[in-house]
Amino acid sequence: MLETICDTLVEAYRRNWITSRDGNVSIRHHDRDHFYITPSGVRKQTMQPDQFKKIRIVSSLMWQEEYYSDISANLKPSGEIPLHFGLQKNMGQHSNDVRVVVHVHPTYCIAAMHAGIDLSTISEAFPELNRYTRVAPNVGDVPPISQELADQCFEKLQLDNNGNIGYDIVGIKGHGVVAIDTSPWRAFEHIERLEHICQIVLASGRY
Ligand SMILES: [Zn+2]
Repeated sequence: MLETICDTLVEAYRRNWITSRDGNVSIRHHDRDHFYITPSGVRKQTMQPDQFKKIRIVSSLMWQEEYYSDISANLKPSGEIPLHFGLQKNMGQHSNDVRVVVHVHPTYCIAAMHAGIDLSTISEAFPELNRYTRVAPNVGDVPPISQELADQCFEKLQLDNNGNIGYDIVGIKGHGVVAIDTSPWRAFEHIERLEHICQIVLASGRY
């Protein structure tokens, strides 16, 4: 699965959803008390599985780095770890499966939010989007890699104390999106669908 995440990052880079060092992904298996997260500052189009950081979930308030490989020992976890920790510590509806959390910066999603569109409202008009992807109301302007960004995303995704979430994807104004599902490519597809519809909406000029 770590290899698959690397593949999705290459594809995300190819699609202009990230520049070289942007974007972060985490993955947790339901029967493990740790998750893996992409490191900070690494070029995502050449990222290798042994560069991931292994993070143990100590308690609902605390995480701790664990040894995974010599290469990753010299790297730091993504600055967005508060976001990933909050979404991985309890797996909710994915508690018998795998949970993957993907954060990237897709061009048209960000452009749509910049133009004043709440991404949750466009999903109503496009059945090919809302049949498969539940889009949360936007998170407003919050600083990157902040606890505030994490908390606002949890609120808009309707994350509860058991780790259940009400939506598959949320947009952060002026910044990007966060998508969640049971595999890297499934999370990727939520972003792809929303990005496609945002491109259509912006091309129409009617919003
Ligand atoms: Zn970001």
